[in-house]
Amino acid sequence: MPEDCVFCAIVDGDIPSRTVHETDDVLAFLDANPLAPGHTLVIPKEHHQHVGDLPADLSRAVFDVVSELTPRVQAAVECDAANVGINDGEAAGQEVPHMHAHIIPRSADDGGKPIHAVAGFRPDLTDEELDEIAEDVRNA
Ligand code: AMP
Ligand code: ZN
Repeated sequence: MPEDCVFCAIVDGDIPSRTVHETDDVLAFLDANPLAPGHTLVIPKEHHQHVGDLPADLSRAVFDVVSELTPRVQAAVECDAANVGINDGEAAGQEVPHMHAHIIPRSADDGGKPIHAVAGFRPDLTDEELDEIAEDVRNA
């Protein structure tokens, strides 16, 4: 594990966290600078930066917790919506290089936007370009 990883330090108990759920492989705790009441982070205890770096069983374990916890967080803060997302890589806004899923509770009048708002300029792609991209992804 990297010496300076804040989330590894939380897993090791060297930095305190408001833990809300824990399994053998996964930890969930409140974000220290929440975007909404109940803003929760779900992390693998093992250090991996990218979602694609997770071994399959650890990926399942993380997303099982995300799935189980999202309605519980909503119930706790009395709302019925949430954005669930991952900033995967620096260019996407990842500041802590230890994979984490955000659960951000939402309500109709909170002034927020859908996850579509994270992107910048929208590309104007033709059907042919979309076909080509789909082909590239299938072959990557
Ligand atoms: P990201 O930009 O996706 O890497 O988000 C990192 C998140 O971690 C931010 O929302 C921070 O508020 C949160 N964060 C950073 N340090 C801590 C900490 N010690 N405890 C809880 N949350 C933290
Ligand atoms: Zn780490």
